[in-house]
Amino acid sequence: MKTLPLIIAPDPLLRKVSKIVDKIDDELRELMKDMVSTMYAESGVGLAAVQVGVLKRILVIDVDYKIEDHEGYEHCGHVHVISSNPRYFVNPEIIWSSEECVPYNEGCLSFPGARSEVIRPNKVKVKYLDFMGLEKTETMSGLLATCIQHEIDHLNGITFVDRISKIKREMILKKIRKKR
Ligand SMILES: [Zn+2]
Repeated sequence: MKTLPLIIAPDPLLRKVSKIVDKIDDELRELMKDMVSTMYAESGVGLAAVQVGVLKRILVIDVDYKIEDHEGYEHCGHVHVISSNPRYFVNPEIIWSSEECVPYNEGCLSFPGARSEVIRPNKVKVKYLDFMGLEKTETMSGLLATCIQHEIDHLNGITFVDRISKIKREMILKKIRKKR
């Protein structure tokens, strides 16, 4: 497994709609594993394929993993994941969402250092294909629900800053431009 370079805002690729995956093969599974390594290495909880430059409807999420915390950890060059629960979602589709909404202070690996509160439904039902290509339907809540909605947005060319006020959005983009 390897880590992949991230696409950072305001890259126009983040505005593109990703394409439906018609075949889940070993090559695609390799990409999904690399996406998981990239997500851990960057301390994220979710990653869409477009964020590593691939316009396919693929997401990886892990809201449960733990990273080993020991002295000198920053200097050893890689992240030690001690317990993980990576999830793979191909062609995910929200087929139901709750009326009740919750705020969550979201961040995004394509917007380094930026965070903002986004309000989304607190429960969603999602249809998707898993790592082996089997069709699944799952009702999600909590951080997993928030995360999958954020990631499915990416597949449609939408980022979390599109869901906040214009003033906040411009502040975030200005900061990111300055950093680059
Ligand atoms: Zn994101």
